[in-house]
Amino acid sequence: MIFSSLVKNIRLLKKLPALQMRCYNKLGKKGISSSYLLTHMDWGIKDLPLVRVRFAPSPTGPLHIGGARSALFNWLFARHYGGKFIVRIEDTDLERSSRQSEDNILTALRWLGLDWDEGVDVGGPYGPYRQTERLGLYKKHADHLLSIGAAYLCYCTGEELAAERESLMAKNELPRYMGRCRNLTQEERTRLEAEGLKPVVRFRVPEDEKILVRDLVRGDVSFETSEIGDFIIIKSDGMPTYNFAVVVDDHTMSISHVIRAEEHLSNTPRQILLYNALRWETPEFAHVSLILGKDRSKMSKRHGATAIEQYQDKGYLPGALTNFLALLGWSPGGEEEVFSLDELKQHFTLDRVAKSPAVFDLEKLNWLNGHYIRETDLERLTEMAVPYLEKEGFIRTPLPPKRFEWLKLVVASVRKQLSYMQEIAVYVKFYFDDNIQIENEEAQQIMAGEQVKPVLLELIKKVNAAAGITEDGAKALLKEVGRDLGLKGKQIFMPVRVALTGSTQGPDLNQVMVILGRDGVIRRLTKWV
Ligand code: GLU
Repeated sequence: MIFSSLVKNIRLLKKLPALQMRCYNKLGKKGISSSYLLTHMDWGIKDLPLVRVRFAPSPTGPLHIGGARSALFNWLFARHYGGKFIVRIEDTDLERSSRQSEDNILTALRWLGLDWDEGVDVGGPYGPYRQTERLGLYKKHADHLLSIGAAYLCYCTGEELAAERESLMAKNELPRYMGRCRNLTQEERTRLEAEGLKPVVRFRVPEDEKILVRDLVRGDVSFETSEIGDFIIIKSDGMPTYNFAVVVDDHTMSISHVIRAEEHLSNTPRQILLYNALRWETPEFAHVSLILGKDRSKMSKRHGATAIEQYQDKGYLPGALTNFLALLGWSPGGEEEVFSLDELKQHFTLDRVAKSPAVFDLEKLNWLNGHYIRETDLERLTEMAVPYLEKEGFIRTPLPPKRFEWLKLVVASVRKQLSYMQEIAVYVKFYFDDNIQIENEEAQQIMAGEQVKPVLLELIKKVNAAAGITEDGAKALLKEVGRDLGLKGKQIFMPVRVALTGSTQGPDLNQVMVILGRDGVIRRLTKWV
């Protein structure tokens, strides 16, 4: 036992430089020490317990495309490296946050197929995972910053701040807090408090420093502290600001990589300043590009639904959405575009996340979803179709088993045409009403053909004589009609199709006849003779 472990250790020691390199390449983490690797070698390189990432939504509305993509990238990253994925709720904006939005977000994440190791509803060793339940922690660290002089109390009123902004803007300078309360004496503070003013806590931004954000996606991005005014970390109502709470949480939750949307890149230098002041190691950062609409403006409702639940309501499949979201900014490097969650997990690395903005292409989503619809098990697809058909009044639940089996045939006949399940109602409408509407002029002209009546009469006769209809049987009957009347192809199929469906296009005619059944076919054809 001891001997074999010794042998293993020696072998691993030899491999250390390569292992370190792999770690660096895969995680973008520099300076992983040999001792660290040795301590963790029993887990194997794939399972290094380094990776702890989080999705930290503010529960101020439903889960949007952008948020879902951030969540997915974090989840894929965690799962790829055998790390932990954490969901933390950032609910310090009391007016805009709600439990309903929180529930909506969690439900949508689960629907997408994501799971988390730690979070509001599942708990975990670093909880609580809702910021309003961590207020004591923020206060403790803010007090510490106050005690070392890295932060100070500021009593400036809204009017004073607005006046300062205006005067800076008039001089064409960047509006920022200029530090009026930076050096208040104890007496001044007591006087201001006696006037009833409630202070905020501001962070003292060091002067004239450069801050380098080493971003795993965007490379090195440099910021000047002269452009950052002393910023608020605790508001006058005691709530922490985003920049402060996020740092305290990411550190105390041992987050290794912060993967989030590009719009937070400008917050990152503030956060790095806080890490430095608190003498905490910064996590790795990876800012993922914006999502643009096809016209290259920022993705908004104009470009299609933005909330995940809207896609769920329309009958998109979660696998298609995660596939689509993954390709918004990440590429696997080949031609292949269809990836299951499992495959994405295998392939996902940050070095394949693009710097350039991702373009939201609804047609591509529809194409992908159509593909997933065709791949989905018919039973499940039929279950998905039921609510849409019930809503139109085509069926009533609970469905007797025989009716469900019949519905499966209906769904199978149109699945190729669907981009998302809500569309099914339009395609299957004709099955549920014998009073079919003739779709257009072309269809009307077909029914005016002089061969139509004899064709339909002959078919009625043959269907009547048959015991039932199968696909092969239908095919044979139509062929026989042609043979008996000396007619071919379209002259038979088209009038039969229009008489049965009202349209010149649609599902396979043999399938339609099976689904309508012997009596249904006869009823519909009889109207034309
Ligand atoms: N609550 C922030 C948001 O929803 C989180 C940003 C971050 O990941 O740091 O945008």
